[in-house]
Amino acid sequence: MNDCIFCKIVAGEIPSYKIYEDEKYLVFLDVFPKTTAQMLVIPKDHIEWVWDVPNLGEYYEVAGKVARHIREVSNIPVRQMVYGFEVPHAHIQIRPGSDDDLNGKQASPAQLEEWRAKYSLI
Ligand SMILES: [Zn+2]
Repeated sequence: MNDCIFCKIVAGEIPSYKIYEDEKYLVFLDVFPKTTAQMLVIPKDHIEWVWDVPNLGEYYEVAGKVARHIREVSNIPVRQMVYGFEVPHAHIQIRPGSDDDLNGKQASPAQLEEWRAKYSLI
């Protein structure tokens, strides 16, 4: 049994606040954000490392599309981070804003819904 938390989000077994979705990729809000509307860009297939995602350019194009959209609607800088150790499923973090203004505490459903409504491309 695959108990990867991101695979469960892809399968809908764990609810998420989706920002973007297509047949290969999913972008959803991190419920423990370090910045406003921190989100994760993941391949739907379970692939541990970003570097092993097929069509890596296509994967980054999805991240770029979402990041540019955030800049367009909010005019704030958008950083990215590839770290890779928290969950063994490839993820690119998108961190809107210029500071780590939140400290990784769980965001409220109302806050997550506000960010989803503001930034979703779905
Ligand atoms: Zn997974």
